[in-house]
Amino acid sequence: MHSFEALGISGAMLETIKKMGFEQPTPIQEKAIPILLQEERDMVALAQTGTGKTAAFGIPLIEKCSADFSGTQALVLAPTRELCLQITADLNRFSEGVNRFSVVPVYGGSSISEQIKKIRRGAQIIVATPGRLMDLMERKAVHFETIRIVVLDEADEMLNMGFKEDIDHILASMPDERRIWLFSATMPSAIRKIAAAYMNNPEEVSVSHEQRTNENIEHQYAIVEDRHRYEALKRLVDFNTEMFAVIFCRTKIDTQKIAEQLMRDGYNADALHGDLTQQQRDRVMGSFRNKTLQMLVATDVAARGIDVSNITHVIHLNMPDEIEFYTHRSGRTARAGKKGISIALVGKRDTGKIKQIEKSTGIRMTRINLPTGPEVCKQRLVKLVHRLREVKVVESEIQDLLPAVYEDLLPLSKEEIIMRFTSLEFNHLLDYYRGAPDLNAIGKSSDRDSGGERFVTGDRLFINLGKMDGLDKGKLLSLICDRSGVQGHAIGKIDLKGAYSFFEVEPTHTANVREHLHGFEYRGRMVRIELTGKNEEGPRKEKRYGKPSGSGRFGKPRAERPFSKGKKKSGGDDWFSSKIKGW
Ligand code: AMP
Repeated sequence: MHSFEALGISGAMLETIKKMGFEQPTPIQEKAIPILLQEERDMVALAQTGTGKTAAFGIPLIEKCSADFSGTQALVLAPTRELCLQITADLNRFSEGVNRFSVVPVYGGSSISEQIKKIRRGAQIIVATPGRLMDLMERKAVHFETIRIVVLDEADEMLNMGFKEDIDHILASMPDERRIWLFSATMPSAIRKIAAAYMNNPEEVSVSHEQRTNENIEHQYAIVEDRHRYEALKRLVDFNTEMFAVIFCRTKIDTQKIAEQLMRDGYNADALHGDLTQQQRDRVMGSFRNKTLQMLVATDVAARGIDVSNITHVIHLNMPDEIEFYTHRSGRTARAGKKGISIALVGKRDTGKIKQIEKSTGIRMTRINLPTGPEVCKQRLVKLVHRLREVKVVESEIQDLLPAVYEDLLPLSKEEIIMRFTSLEFNHLLDYYRGAPDLNAIGKSSDRDSGGERFVTGDRLFINLGKMDGLDKGKLLSLICDRSGVQGHAIGKIDLKGAYSFFEVEPTHTANVREHLHGFEYRGRMVRIELTGKNEEGPRKEKRYGKPSGSGRFGKPRAERPFSKGKKKSGGDDWFSSKIKGW
């Protein structure tokens, strides 16, 4: 059993940790805290946000600083203002039981004279962005003589953001007798160089890939065409109505555009990027933190390091250019032991990045299919019915209103009331999704254009209808689509024979096609549909074919998990199914 008690932490600090609700140390805390507390050594620790790394250095930091001396004893460097504020908040919580202890954050975009005043009043710990610290050094507003510990937090991020020279300058200005604790999610050679130049035989601490990469995040991706990205995003949001999400875009312009588009379309979203004023950013972050804002559309830089609890989803509207950004983005969810989902919308040309991410981070990414229009509608209806069943009814409060309602509804049967209630809630959604295309880009776009094979993997179905039944390829395609409601592009190659034919179906639609065609009577013949092996003539036992030779880049996904997993068969006789079946 892992416990904080075993790590050598003082009784007072144990009390504080308990009050914060931390029951067990995380792996990085378990490894780093005893060394930082007991050994006078430099440390390089591999850990990303969300793994409890702030407490891993924060707890020993507070334990090692003295409240009796008001001079600055520790410096924490962090890449962004947001992260500075978060670290400061965490350090304040850890030092709650200590009298006269002051942690001062300093960062750009805020009054430097106010920050100087606070430092003058006494700051045992300064938490700074490198740029602002350089300004303060130039003004001789900070004194380093008494500093004994320097923490570099998210060191790789600071280098990515171009702070290398500032960090060199700051570290070179520190007293000789100081310890450096370096925390980084990745270990590029530039970090190794810093360690070699400024650190003395550092202890290296790292946790396993899974522990380092936050195993509470479920990593998923869907393959979409570029022109469908925004629609795909809306599908995800419409499907997951309780989503509380950060949506990452690559540029400030895209971020603003997507947020505005979402707002125009009636979603609760706003943008966070570097072109906003500090007040605007504070307002957006404020409403996101208190959950009045459901979706934060952000750039990598603006949302780096933010720690907002209960974020359910991180959506990558595009894959980031740098692999590290992927881990930083997805680390916004699944914080403090919670679970979360990261969904990347991947262009067909970007699928190689998935493999690169898996290889370099140890994360496993699962391919999903974006929900289709009918799936979104069904899901929403299920949720609505659930809410209807669960709603709290305070009879005494509505009693006076009920007679008039009863009178108005009297001519309607129970079935009619249910239909009207559903239509009231759903007509706009049904309108929107009627005929909406399947957004999953499965084959190469050129395949479609050339009329060649459309799928990388498809199911090949046998049907006991052919030329003898007066069918040509177009008529058979119409028959399949009209009966099943499946869009034409979900049907692949059609191989028309005399008394029977074969056709390919995107696997997510196979069940639907079989259900709606098998047993249906066509020109006096009972239609029979069977799943067959590829390249085999005539019906065979049920068998799916694997990756066709020379197929496209993706092959069959390792663990394809459509959103529709586990959904009930769409029963043909309920009103809703019949309503959406005809699309
Ligand atoms: P960090 O990796 O420092 O950004 O921390 C991620 C989140 O985990 C923060 O919200 C912390 O408050 C929380 N946290 C850190 N350590 C623990 C722990 N041992 N038990 C529960 N939550 C923790």
